[in-house]
Amino acid sequence: MAQTTSRITSEIDFNREGKQVGFLRLPHSVHRSAYGWIPIPVACIGNGSGPRVLLMAGNHGDEYEGQVALSRVLRETEAADVRGRLVFLTSANFPAALAGTRTSPIDDGNLNRSFPGDPDGGVTAQIAFYIEHVLLPQCDYVFDLHSGGSSLMYVPSGLCRRHDDPARMAHALALLTAFGAPMSYVADAPQGGDRTLTAAASRRGVMHMGSELGGGGTLSIGALRTAQEGIRRVLRLIGALGEGVAVPPAPATRLLQVRGADYFVYAGDGGLFEPLVDVGDEVAAGQEAGIIHFHDTPWREPATALFRRAGTVLCKRMPCRTERGDCLFHLGTPYEA
Ligand SMILES: [Zn+2]
Repeated sequence: MAQTTSRITSEIDFNREGKQVGFLRLPHSVHRSAYGWIPIPVACIGNGSGPRVLLMAGNHGDEYEGQVALSRVLRETEAADVRGRLVFLTSANFPAALAGTRTSPIDDGNLNRSFPGDPDGGVTAQIAFYIEHVLLPQCDYVFDLHSGGSSLMYVPSGLCRRHDDPARMAHALALLTAFGAPMSYVADAPQGGDRTLTAAASRRGVMHMGSELGGGGTLSIGALRTAQEGIRRVLRLIGALGEGVAVPPAPATRLLQVRGADYFVYAGDGGLFEPLVDVGDEVAAGQEAGIIHFHDTPWREPATALFRRAGTVLCKRMPCRTERGDCLFHLGTPYEA
């Protein structure tokens, strides 16, 4: 019979008051460890009534600002500071985080393409299943901190999905304003749905905010500050952090939107990518975005990738070596309700 409940067990009790830390135990029987489990770090800070929040990072293992920021917030937050409950999943795809890779080295799983997950699947599908079926039903909010990872660099940005319900949309924009990243953007849900945590949150009626903080496989100072201070401002806004915690005011954020395929520039050829613009630049429709040089045939004229519309450059590809189909840039344009 198919498994219907998660095999992952938690060392901590999410319904207990106070601050607890421990591991989610994902059973993993392998050559070096017959009865072993994968230790996914988890923490919970509960204090009476208030919003129930899942704070997540390391959904992709090579995105570091969120992992460092949430770990610091965890260490610096005590039960008396909290109203309601904070659950910390600081390195959600823990095998990927341990390896410093986007996807899991065990099953090649991309956690943010694995929802709703599968309790009988590989380790990544099992983590997704646990988040969607055990953690999200206990939450009002999920804040999932991503960065550009190894292949992209972003202007530090908060992000949310476009909501049909005006009240939910207004609340999502208030969260982005409180987060206070230099830029924020509203993204359309893809046609036909997707397998992201954002889609899982939507299915479970959980309010979601995400981020894209820096990237390039490194940790950038400004993006880390945005994450650390921004997450506290968001928790304060929703009433999950008491007035005793000092929270710096939000810097102004520039609100953009990302809609449709023409916001993205892809490599039409493989080769060496020469970017012609940088993140934060304003570009025009038809402007040259980058050049792909053919180092296998250096006498061949290089290919040029163009921006298909005007906008602000939110992210660019970091590695020079590029294959056909790799994303080189994506744009944002001023938000329209
Ligand atoms: Zn990510």
